[in-house]
Amino acid sequence: MTRDRRVLLAVAAALALAVSRGTAPAAAVHPAAAPAPRVVAVALGTAQDGGVPQAGCDCSRCVAARRDPARRRRVASLALQLPATGQSWLIDATPDLGEQLEVVHRLRPRPAGGPDRRPVDGVLLTHAHAGHYLGLAFFGFEAVNTRDLPVFASPRMAAFLRGNGPWSLLAARRNILLREISPGVTLALAPGLAVTPLLVPHRDELSDTLGFVVRGPRRTLLYVPDTDSWAAWARPLPEVLLRERVDLALLDGTFYSAGELPDRDVRTIGHPLMSATMELLREPVRGGLQVFFTHLNHSNPALDPAGPERRALAAAGYRVLEEGQVLEL
Ligand SMILES: [Zn+2]
Ligand SMILES: [Zn+2]
Ligand SMILES: [Zn+2]
Repeated sequence: MTRDRRVLLAVAAALALAVSRGTAPAAAVHPAAAPAPRVVAVALGTAQDGGVPQAGCDCSRCVAARRDPARRRRVASLALQLPATGQSWLIDATPDLGEQLEVVHRLRPRPAGGPDRRPVDGVLLTHAHAGHYLGLAFFGFEAVNTRDLPVFASPRMAAFLRGNGPWSLLAARRNILLREISPGVTLALAPGLAVTPLLVPHRDELSDTLGFVVRGPRRTLLYVPDTDSWAAWARPLPEVLLRERVDLALLDGTFYSAGELPDRDVRTIGHPLMSATMELLREPVRGGLQVFFTHLNHSNPALDPAGPERRALAAAGYRVLEEGQVLEL
């Protein structure tokens, strides 16, 4: 069985479980009320923009990922799905979008025997770095050729897309419909699924950067795949987590520690180190917050499933987000 097939089966099994688990208690407590819809987040990718393996890299982790496809990681992206209806939204459009759509697609009703011109219900974008928006090209005339696919972006990100080719063509040809969203203003995507953008400090060359608070019927998830160090945040992260009542935090895990790139000091690149995040969130994690690291760089030693860094993470109550992982919201 191919790895893609295994991931798909795992996602399908987890979704079925989520459906069967969620319906019974709601019906038992309120027999007359309609059962709350199930909402899940599916990890479509968990690597930094360059993916794992990264093009042209012969570091030990890239070599291992080429040898063993189970160690391969696609570029960070999340699907938000209602399993009962197949409604699906993507957070970010990565260069791996073609393969990532396969995962979403098979769980969604679609026309038989031909192309699906609306393979998702919409896309929410974090920012204009390569790993987070280049996949929009797949929606264009040369490929899927969608019609008025809603793409939610900050006003600055939307202006960048409208003003620069080839993205401007997607908007002009109405493959995508740019819809501006603002930090703090909640967007209701479906019954039981709402998303609130939040402004994130990051190297904002072409756009600003958003994170998302995703509220499902039962749990709230914070998605921040890319950020400057937590010290750059206007409000301390633990305070944000508390204020937004976050149950699951999927956070920037680009680098584990300062010395991991032989030719660059990773602190100058501007991500929080995993080790620093673990220190910062010690109390919230003890109090029940679940933290998953995503957006791992190919240099990150926490990629090694049996390495000491992964053991240290687990011992402190943290996890690395896995490809295909399904989180119920
Ligand atoms: Zn990134
Ligand atoms: Zn590498
Ligand atoms: Zn970035």
